[in-house]
Amino acid sequence: MKPAEIHREVVILGSGPAGLTAAIYAARADMNPLVIEGPQPGGQLTITTEVENYPGFAKGIQGPELMDEMRGQAARFGTEFHTGWISHVDLQHRPFTIHDVGEKDETQVKVIIKAETLIIASGASAKWLGIPGEAPAPYGLGGLGVSACATCDGFFFKGKEIIVIGGGDTALEEATFLTRYASKVYLVHRRDKLRASQIMQQKAQANDKIEFIWNTGVEEILGTQESGVTGVRLKNLQTGEMRDFPCEGVFVAIGHKPNTDLFKGQLEMDEVGYLCTANRTMATNIPGVFACGDVQDSVYRQAVTAAGTGCMAAIDAERFLDSLPVEMPDHTEVTQEGEIVTPDHKLIIEPSGEVVSNIAVGSSRK
Ligand code: NDP
Repeated sequence: MKPAEIHREVVILGSGPAGLTAAIYAARADMNPLVIEGPQPGGQLTITTEVENYPGFAKGIQGPELMDEMRGQAARFGTEFHTGWISHVDLQHRPFTIHDVGEKDETQVKVIIKAETLIIASGASAKWLGIPGEAPAPYGLGGLGVSACATCDGFFFKGKEIIVIGGGDTALEEATFLTRYASKVYLVHRRDKLRASQIMQQKAQANDKIEFIWNTGVEEILGTQESGVTGVRLKNLQTGEMRDFPCEGVFVAIGHKPNTDLFKGQLEMDEVGYLCTANRTMATNIPGVFACGDVQDSVYRQAVTAAGTGCMAAIDAERFLDSLPVEMPDHTEVTQEGEIVTPDHKLIIEPSGEVVSNIAVGSSRK
């Protein structure tokens, strides 16, 4: 059967805070955006409980409720939603082509989506250990003492003894942050050397509330749905010795994986796989493709920063569709007609290759 075809000015891949904020802005600008949702619509916040640090909610709000509100707000201004599984994206020509196979592991293309501009908001996923007790409740103790985000959940561990797993910058930053609340933070690392930067190591090692447990793996998280986390089963990786260790919270901080496999070989990424965007815009290295939220942010990773960059990406897409120049990661500015403004703003390179001055006649600019 021939795949159905959809053609839109703005297609947004992902429906977390970044994607939905981009949708709200694009819809209000009459760009008729299409949001493509995957198997976990709403993104990481739908697996969080209380969100207390998103501005505008003095009493806090549940993560799923916040995402429902954002989705409703985007729909109110005319955003359309499309559920599917994207198997392939061709960004070499505009309109960009997006292949939807319906569900994971399917191969037959069901819908071809053509996009004049593409906003990528596919997020990042925390890496997990895959041990018993780690899965979200009711299957495990996730949300009942197991977390992968200290900024989101640290507040709930006031006066408690907790462990942080990992030895990189994330683990040390989370451990240091958590000492604001926890009475004691044990940092469990599988080796006897940290991967984290020197400055983070010094900070953590100077903190009296942090104690290191070296050469140790976590085999299981212990507790019940009623009690929450009560401890962990630790394994000394040098001697093989097992012991149960009491604690009331477990933060898994072994890194994040940006959801960018689809774009490998097409978009510029850093060594971990985060998409590279320009400093002052959300443009990627392909004109007309923008990225926002955690898929391009390895540092802040907050719902509110994701939403902020979603707004920026929608405004950038609007500028681009209006044939205004958008700053690219290499600091050139590019229009959809293919005109390139040099970083010093002195020259315009036309699509034909002709170079013309960008300095207005009579201007005093040097
Ligand atoms: P990293 O990949 O740097 O570190 C992951 C850590 O988790 C490593 O210590 C690794 O152990 C451990 N680990 C990985 N898998 C397992 C496993 N299955 N079981 C047990 N331990 C495991 O990830 P980060 O998120 O810490 O950092 C990612 C990038 O982001 C880095 O470039 C970092 O510098 C940057 N970053 C910067 C920050 C800042 O500047 N403020 C804050 C946070 C991150 P091992 O060492 O043995 O491999």
